[in-house]
Amino acid sequence: MIRTRFAPSPNGPLHLGHAYAAIVAHDLARARGGECLLRIEDIDGTRSRAELVPEIMADLAWLGLAWDGAPVFQSRRLAAYAEAGERLKALGLLYPCQCTRAEIAAAARETGPDGPVYPGTCRSRPADPRGAAWRLDMAKAVALAGPLEWRDERAGLQRAAPERFGDVVLLRKEAPASYHLAATLDDAADGITLVTRGADLFAATDVHRLLQVLLGLPVPVWHHHALLVEPDGRKLAKRRGSPALADRRLAGEDGTALARALREGRFPAGISLGQGLHGEA
Ligand code: GLU
Repeated sequence: MIRTRFAPSPNGPLHLGHAYAAIVAHDLARARGGECLLRIEDIDGTRSRAELVPEIMADLAWLGLAWDGAPVFQSRRLAAYAEAGERLKALGLLYPCQCTRAEIAAAARETGPDGPVYPGTCRSRPADPRGAAWRLDMAKAVALAGPLEWRDERAGLQRAAPERFGDVVLLRKEAPASYHLAATLDDAADGITLVTRGADLFAATDVHRLLQVLLGLPVPVWHHHALLVEPDGRKLAKRRGSPALADRRLAGEDGTALARALREGRFPAGISLGQGLHGEA
């Protein structure tokens, strides 16, 4: 049986792009007689807003989407993230990093899928774990794991190249685990067999595939869907004025009619489905 998930971060209100992602996860599971889980990714200490969680639930119910089982919350799984971090430290694959964002931007020589690639400043410094973020020693990890592949239902077999990301942060100063570590552990813990999410996270899957090998986790199949985009090709974002689902709901709009329109590819004026499968959508 397949199991998918929709995994919003309550960092801002949901908009149409989230509605579309939720529908993809939900409908793929339903069409194949599987299950779909709702996971709240609420561990970004600086951005996560607990008061948005009931709004998110209400938005999804308004769209007519129902989930299997109770929603799961990342904030209740901090011990599992810490334990995985300890295992990676014991393998000698993590090192503490004290660099600030500004220092990294100034010293970075390359840009990866997520922005400036960490130049490795702290890799060779004497380890000072106080108030540090912990980075993955990517070269070491890749050498240990060997060549890796993963499969996307739409894009086919992919050869992973996580080294493009450089030494990613796995344990953060202000949050217990980075997105890469938490999402990878959760997909395994939740028994997700088909990871559905937007094409903007396509490249990140290379890192997740690497973490699966390092942590001995099962390997799902992925389904990266195209993103809803604005006329300039950029993905929808609340800060650029994409209306919140909650505003539409409170204005009395019919949520199931909206969900039907999104399923049928009828999007509001100016919004379309991007073509990119690899995050350029
Ligand atoms: N929480 C992520 C987001 O809202 C989704 C992560 C995922 O689906 O893997 O963008």
